[in-house]
Amino acid sequence: MKKVRFSIIAFCVLAPLALMAQKSPKFDKYFDNATLRIDYYRQGNFNYDTCILKGFVKQNTLWAGSLTQLLDPIDNGEYRLLVKDAATGKELYSRCYNSLFHEYRDTKPGHDSVATFEEVMLMPMPKKPVLVCLQKRDEKQKFQTTAVFPFDPSSEAAMTPSNATTPIKLLYNGDSHKKIDVVIVAEGYGKKDERKMREDFDKFTSYLLGQEPFKSRQKDFNVWGVGFLADESGVTNPLKNHYVNSAVGSSYNTFGSDRYLMTMQLFKLHDLLSGCPYDHIIIMANCDTYGGGAIYNFYAFSAVQEMSMWILPHELGHSIGGLADEYVDEELSYNDIHKMDQEPLEANITTLVDFASKWQDLVPKKTPIPTPPVKGLGRHDNGPIGVYEGGGYQPHGIYRPCTKCMMRDYADFCPVCTRTLNRVFDLYVR
Ligand SMILES: [Zn+2]
Repeated sequence: MKKVRFSIIAFCVLAPLALMAQKSPKFDKYFDNATLRIDYYRQGNFNYDTCILKGFVKQNTLWAGSLTQLLDPIDNGEYRLLVKDAATGKELYSRCYNSLFHEYRDTKPGHDSVATFEEVMLMPMPKKPVLVCLQKRDEKQKFQTTAVFPFDPSSEAAMTPSNATTPIKLLYNGDSHKKIDVVIVAEGYGKKDERKMREDFDKFTSYLLGQEPFKSRQKDFNVWGVGFLADESGVTNPLKNHYVNSAVGSSYNTFGSDRYLMTMQLFKLHDLLSGCPYDHIIIMANCDTYGGGAIYNFYAFSAVQEMSMWILPHELGHSIGGLADEYVDEELSYNDIHKMDQEPLEANITTLVDFASKWQDLVPKKTPIPTPPVKGLGRHDNGPIGVYEGGGYQPHGIYRPCTKCMMRDYADFCPVCTRTLNRVFDLYVR
């Protein structure tokens, strides 16, 4: 079947997993075991964007991230949060990510008009004043600072949200500092749906951990559930003239794509999660219309329906692993998604400009380029690793590692995607 159009837009710009060795600052010297949230607006369009601080928020939970991997070693995503000691300028914490705004800017309205999006980042609570720097990539893919927000932990600026919901422990394997904490947010459940919500939490936990390499790494995950029962069931679908005041205000038809199910209400979402430790968010929407989406280090979204067991791992490939879609969609008019004189940031597609930074080490010598695809492969057979033309939505000039993959056609994750995910998982468990 034709691949999920929502994921096309849910294009998660990720990186070549160039793991750069950086000495992490000592956590206890610079941070307390608490979580600080930065709420800000990103406003602009294809030509420019600017970030406006809304405020700092103290979450009602301890720090869930690693105590040793404070500086993000994965050169990935279009944006980066970089935190510096205000007195010395020393880099204390960083995290790369993508956002819904970055997709908006590539749409037609994103060329014609200006819009404002909510964005949220988390960081450990600093002990001393810091500079919170928001960065984005320039033409050469280097990060440049676009906004600086000073934060003094001795001030009263960090307010604690009052509407945090107590999380349900769906799977607990130990200390959050050494686990990948994933929270499943129940969206679109009405007061009569409490039992279904509990069943769906279990279902989504099994989908999350049902595919390799998630399956083998099950002991590295904690899974939490956060539920909120609204007055009515379902989520907004403007195409059906159906509007619901749901927990986090999600909606189909984001950016005019019928299956693209997302929420713009990031502040509300993170308020709801304030009492839960989390590294990654899955929004589980109680509606049976095919839909979802995901953005790197932002969130993953999936409706609860018959395809969810495949949609969810695919979307987690974007939101956790930062993987690109490996399929082709010639209807897409985003001509400038990939620059052919640069490597894409994602680890699982290449322009061959710097193939050594991708999966060249896994390709047998004398493999033809492009490698001819193999027909008739079974469900669990990706086919041999090579350099197959077509990926990242484009039929020519972009290459993928295997004939089949979860990021192309819901097959198993190919060896390159598997390696990438395992490398990302490793960063959370140290
Ligand atoms: Zn793959």
